[in-house]
Amino acid sequence: MNCEKCGVDAPLAHRDVDGFAYYLCEACISGWDAVRSPSADAADETRSPAR
Ligand SMILES: [Zn+2]
Repeated sequence: MNCEKCGVDAPLAHRDVDGFAYYLCEACISGWDAVRSPSADAADETRSPAR
């Protein structure tokens, strides 16, 4: 099976993004997670003083 993002032929993992099912390779998943992790930012802001 080919990754739906980069098209590489590799073992894919299912990912639910904005209500759509995607099958992505490990590299794309880790990249996607890095982009889509607002919770980490939110946790950081509670600790930092007001900007
Ligand atoms: Zn990929």
